[in-house]
Amino acid sequence: MSANSPKRIGIFSDVHGNLQAFEAVIEAMQQDNVEGIYCCGDIVGYGANPNECVELTRELQCPIIAGNHDHAALLLTDISYFNDVAKAAVLWTKKVLTSKNSQFLQDLPLTVSDDHFYFVHASPKAPEQWNYILTMGEARTNFEYFTQQFCFIGHSHQPFIIEDYEDNLICPAQPDIQIKPGRRYLVNVGSVGQPRDRNPKPAYVICDLEKEILEIKRVEYDIPSAQNAIIKEGLPRELAERLAYGW
Ligand code: ZN
Repeated sequence: MSANSPKRIGIFSDVHGNLQAFEAVIEAMQQDNVEGIYCCGDIVGYGANPNECVELTRELQCPIIAGNHDHAALLLTDISYFNDVAKAAVLWTKKVLTSKNSQFLQDLPLTVSDDHFYFVHASPKAPEQWNYILTMGEARTNFEYFTQQFCFIGHSHQPFIIEDYEDNLICPAQPDIQIKPGRRYLVNVGSVGQPRDRNPKPAYVICDLEKEILEIKRVEYDIPSAQNAIIKEGLPRELAERLAYGW
């Protein structure tokens, strides 16, 4: 471990312009006494406050990587495969983003790593292709594309922890596990702004190398405020409604 590596980090992803959820997660991470914060991308898209979320992320001065919606809002990636609702949100986001915030998103790297941690939005195998890791088979393949003990991803908005021990993959059902020496971990940190695991509470992850704990955490936030902001901006109603049921 390099001397300056933070030992207790908070990782979040997929804020998607939901300022109310983002503020709740930042407050929770600060109360968790993290020494470092990392963002796995998709700061914008779907929610009503893309500029505020970019600015808040920038204020955190944390390592940040780009997500597919960040690139989509700059038309850097093909949006023809987006559904109508996602497309409408992306085009609205493109329209309202300030040039400074667009430039900030454009400058984000696709991956960030150090001795212990590897961060990518979708998959280590092909960061620029935005493929989902949804099966144990896909997880197994992706373990071959990072060398660190931990890889943190977002993208599917469905948090999980997968442990690799001598080629046996284990996906614990509980949200917190003991980190074991010699084992490697692929962790989806879930979504701050639009959870899709039928739990509407924003998610983030704590990784503590000293206490050897990896934990998916959830927080409460003001869902009606986020919904009202979406409706007020004239974005598709479905984007507001889904926040209530976490799908
Ligand atoms: Zn996303």
